[in-house]
Amino acid sequence: MSRVYNFSAGPSMLPLPVLEKAQKELIEQGGSGMSVMEMSHRSKPYEAIINSAEANLRKLMEIPDNYKVLFLQGGATLQFASVPMNLMKKGKADYIVSGQFSKKAADEAKKFGEVRIVASSADKNFSYVPTVSKSDFSTDADYVHICSNNTIFGTVYNYTPETGDIPLVADMSSNILSKPIDISKYGLIYAGAQKNMGPAGLTVVIVREDLIGNARAGTPTILDYKVQADNDSMYNTPACYSIYVAGLVFEWLLELGGLAEMEKINVRKAGKLYDYLDSSLMFKPTAEKAYRSIMNVCFVTGDEELDKKFCSEAAKAGFVNIKGHRSVGGMRASIYNAMPEEGIEKLVAFMSEFEKNNLKGR
Ligand SMILES: *Cc1c(COP(=O)(O)O)cnc(C)c1O
Repeated sequence: MSRVYNFSAGPSMLPLPVLEKAQKELIEQGGSGMSVMEMSHRSKPYEAIINSAEANLRKLMEIPDNYKVLFLQGGATLQFASVPMNLMKKGKADYIVSGQFSKKAADEAKKFGEVRIVASSADKNFSYVPTVSKSDFSTDADYVHICSNNTIFGTVYNYTPETGDIPLVADMSSNILSKPIDISKYGLIYAGAQKNMGPAGLTVVIVREDLIGNARAGTPTILDYKVQADNDSMYNTPACYSIYVAGLVFEWLLELGGLAEMEKINVRKAGKLYDYLDSSLMFKPTAEKAYRSIMNVCFVTGDEELDKKFCSEAAKAGFVNIKGHRSVGGMRASIYNAMPEEGIEKLVAFMSEFEKNNLKGR
């Protein structure tokens, strides 16, 4: 068996101990006589799996009791529609556009009401995150929507927007569980699992109880947060296996020491890569320093041919999926929780070697 260092933005690496545990339990889980994939979602063994996944996520993220945790499907993209369908009581929302996903979220919300773009960083190809303050928001907005970490552009909010009484909604798909956050500052958080939580197919929604129960007329039953909450995310069959693997990831994080410990590791990991990039004569990071993501690190050589050569040689050396998104070009190393520190150290060593070999004569 030979595993590569997978820098994919998503679906992305899972912790090896999680995969090993899933492998061990693949055919028969916990004395149930069957695979998790074969279980009824309403059976006792499965109930134990989903309940412990929720309990462990609550513990990890210190989710207050007045928040519901929902295990849904449809990806973060379906939440672009579900959020306005459920939260737009007055039909108005404020959006901050800091990348491609927040733009998509705003465009989708326009189908359901009046969307105001409070700020955007499109002017500099989303290389920074706009700074907004309380007075920038519409007093009658139903919510303010942000994307906390911009997966494609490698930028992150270095502050939490102060929205006063207006609920703050955040797409945290690419940085949930990367560090501790104060849940009470948010009305709703959502994230697709396949970046930092588990396999694709699961979308986690964490929502303050008082915000649910007001879905607009015509909202499909399955998309109504109240229906999902009242049915413990089992209005229909949930993404059973993805929830099980995400549960193993939550256990792995708890054993590691929780999110404060994970953040320390992530800061150290990203620091090693950014320190090299800052000293390199060949590679340049694309995100403004103050908004650098510790999950997605974007960089370029400034020469498309050289970028191509780098990606191809990197892949041969076992560093795969490092090509940047087409809207930024260059490279993107997604270094989520599961990327071992050693993977980054080896990547940096590989990059320095590539730099030495290719800088000559330029
Ligand atoms: C990946 C991603 C999405 C899209 O997620 P899907 O699960 O594919 O719908 C949305 N927002 C952010 C921030 C992402 O990283």
